Amino acid sequence: MPTKSYNGGIVVPNLYRVESVGIITVSLPNKVVLPLNERVTDKAVPCVSVGERVLTGQVIATNKDYDSVPIHATISGQVTAIDDQLIAHKSGLKTRCITIQSDGKDEWIEQQDTIDNYLNLAPSVLINKIRQAGIVGMGGAGFPAHLKLGLLGLSNLCKTIIVNGTECEPGIMCDDALMQNYPEKIISGVEVMLHISGAERAIIAIENDKIDAHNALLQYISDERISTELIPTKYTSGSEKLLIKALLNKEIPSGGFAIDEGIVCQNVSTVSAIYDAVVDGKPLVSRIVTVTGSGVSSPDNYDVRLGSYFEHIVSLAKPSNEKHSIRMGGMMMGTDVATMSVPISKICNCIFVNNVAPKYDVKECIRCGSCNQVCPVDLLPQQLYWYSKSENTEKASDYNLLDCIECGCCSYVCPSHIPLVDYFSFAKALHRKNIEDKRRTDAARERFEYREFRLERNNKERTEMMEAKKKAIKEKMANEKGQKDKIAAAMDRVNKNKEDNAQ
Ligand code: SF4
Ligand code: SF4
Repeated sequence: MPTKSYNGGIVVPNLYRVESVGIITVSLPNKVVLPLNERVTDKAVPCVSVGERVLTGQVIATNKDYDSVPIHATISGQVTAIDDQLIAHKSGLKTRCITIQSDGKDEWIEQQDTIDNYLNLAPSVLINKIRQAGIVGMGGAGFPAHLKLGLLGLSNLCKTIIVNGTECEPGIMCDDALMQNYPEKIISGVEVMLHISGAERAIIAIENDKIDAHNALLQYISDERISTELIPTKYTSGSEKLLIKALLNKEIPSGGFAIDEGIVCQNVSTVSAIYDAVVDGKPLVSRIVTVTGSGVSSPDNYDVRLGSYFEHIVSLAKPSNEKHSIRMGGMMMGTDVATMSVPISKICNCIFVNNVAPKYDVKECIRCGSCNQVCPVDLLPQQLYWYSKSENTEKASDYNLLDCIECGCCSYVCPSHIPLVDYFSFAKALHRKNIEDKRRTDAARERFEYREFRLERNNKERTEMMEAKKKAIKEKMANEKGQKDKIAAAMDRVNKNKEDNAQ
């Protein structure tokens, strides 16, 4: 029985279980739409033009910033547009994308040689391969994989690798499918990461309802640095800090990061992609996505090319004829998406398709305290609610509002159906805005005060300069008058002598 756990969290029944967790490889899409920014800040620059033919795996956009990764064509075909398109993001805004129309051939760029002897290669070489393959955290965060490994690996500071094989939410099963179907690849990927990072050990964390995946992995573990840990199946075990708490009994302090403690966490899908990049020399062009929810009768996992539209795989899961709500990611922490005509990205692990259900009426807080009991990061959601509701973000942040991971456990158990997590996410945004406004106001005041000081100083300097000038002129004039008097006296003496001599 698993013993490693953490406080709080909730057991959410998985209503969408399947008899066997498989993977369906999906046919090529007719077109793909590839956003130029996997994260909000790092927009890549296209290196192809409209009308150009591209091959699968070809780099189509790059970014000079080392923190970013290149974008690859995920099918072969013709670039038909470089323009703004809708993507699966809660902002609902459009972003710059490259559209490729398939030629149906899936012709790849020349593949690099398979590398079995990666142990002979320097970690820096392998880290660069991972970056060039365009790998980011595929569990949802999208943090570039080469950065995490590079930060610690190249400085010999990495002690522990945690491989996250927990599905973050009920219903998602893409990682379970990956572990059951490609266990050897995952274990080899972990060995690659151990080599790169120089870590002493790697722990693969799996929930205890995924025994088949656990057994599959055990068959391939021969390196004594690699172990597995079963943890209780509860939400939200997939959260990085909670996983570290459960496995290592280590608290990552507020505002801190796992890497500060010499820990690198990677999701199993990312580990698999690292194996493909390092050993097979393949860039990241596809991923496994779960399609599930009350709106489909055949939930399953699909191996699909990145940039395919949601509808390309949702149609395979037998959607009902009812009106649907679509969510990317889990039902708890996912992002609502307005349309299925948005592309699948590297961080899209699941598409929830639900029949639209009537909403519950929100009632007053009855101070039952249920929310406080389930918070996995030991916050007091009830207190946070009052302060967030009254927009008192200063008080809310005294109650560690910023540590809220927006897991939604508190909202889930609230008998009054208060959307607590929405209040917290609003209050966090407001808090950040207030801080930014204050920073701007302080900066403006400092600028004003400095300007006043500068004007006063200039006036003073000018006055002093004028005084000095006046004084110098006066002195000069006095000197000149003295000289004139002397000359006049001398002239008088000369004239007087002349007169005396004439007599
Ligand atoms: S949403 Fe925030 S406050 Fe609510 S349970 Fe999760 S971490 Fe705690
Ligand atoms: S669970 Fe809901 S009703 Fe109960 S204390 Fe928390 S906010 Fe109030």
